[in-house]
Amino acid sequence: MSVWDDVVGQPDAVATLRRAATDPAAMTHAWLLTGPPGSGRSVAARAFAAALQCTGTDGETGGCGRCRACTTTLAGTHPDLTVVATDKVVITIDEVRDLIMTAARTPSSGRYRVIVVEDADRMAERTTNVLLKAIEEPPPHTVWVLCAPSAQDVLPTIRSRCRGVVLRVPPAQDVADLLVRRDGIDPAVALTAARAAQSHVGLARRLARDADARERRDAVLEIARRIRGVGDAVLAAGELVDVAKAEAVAATTERDAVEKAELMRALGVQEGDTLPPRLRSQLRQLEDDQKRRATRRQRDVLDRSMVDLLSLYRDVLVVQLGAAVDLVNAEHDGTVRALAADSTPEQTIRRMDAIGVARERLEGNVAPLLALEAMAVALRPQG
Ligand SMILES: [Zn+2]
Repeated sequence: MSVWDDVVGQPDAVATLRRAATDPAAMTHAWLLTGPPGSGRSVAARAFAAALQCTGTDGETGGCGRCRACTTTLAGTHPDLTVVATDKVVITIDEVRDLIMTAARTPSSGRYRVIVVEDADRMAERTTNVLLKAIEEPPPHTVWVLCAPSAQDVLPTIRSRCRGVVLRVPPAQDVADLLVRRDGIDPAVALTAARAAQSHVGLARRLARDADARERRDAVLEIARRIRGVGDAVLAAGELVDVAKAEAVAATTERDAVEKAELMRALGVQEGDTLPPRLRSQLRQLEDDQKRRATRRQRDVLDRSMVDLLSLYRDVLVVQLGAAVDLVNAEHDGTVRALAADSTPEQTIRRMDAIGVARERLEGNVAPLLALEAMAVALRPQG
């Protein structure tokens, strides 16, 4: 057992990080881990942090997985580990200033002070510039581990000062093996989920364990078959947006309430009391953050729905071209074949393009319904 066990399908990246943790000559103080969503960036970052802190068991160092330094780092409770896991849209300049203060302190008990920033791409340029200086000349025991979807997602100035490690999309079988070993999921279910999630580890796990999540995904794929005309398309787009909204609300409501209660307690306000005016701005700040988080979540869910739809048309194309590769959506074989028989490869590619355009427009903050209606209209049969 080692801290690297859960970093699936990334032998090259693990070799690089492992070497750095054990060989001072291979060590650098600023790292940039990149890889597509679900490739396990944050898991790899935590494993690396643990390997750096590892004090060893029976002579095994570099992430033995058993010493206290390893276990507390993986659990996120090591005193010399700071993880910025943001589900807000942006990391604020104040947060980065706090981080820099933390980074300047010598480790209290560990070998290093490790700062992991999970979404280094969610920083405004001004914020990044503040961070730059800290990364450029870190104190000798401080290590920065920045994560982003791709190197192009961070400013060139940051990129040039970090050592890059690229994660790939892990093979579906590796993801399935992890689900079986770690979560005790049935091998067949695990493989279907890993394929459907296109090797996104977290999503595969959710699909394997949560029947509602599977149903939602099925519903999204069924939409492709249901769209016969413009009217259906508009309805389908509205449905996709509603489902995403509901999922965002379900995912955030409980947490929002807990955060609010915590803030009230911290401010010394009893439940049921009215908030004194001077404290209201703090509550408003929290509520704004929560609203942004819900918006982001909704966009993430929508993007995922479109990735699912893309995988369906990818399968359609596979059938149309007679390619000898596995279907992502083997359990939707009927839909795939019906769509394949009903259209040409050129039409399928045009549909995939339309989905890609909708994803870009969403990313660019176009109103979700608008972007999805245009997409859904392009999915209808072209005759
Ligand atoms: Zn250890």
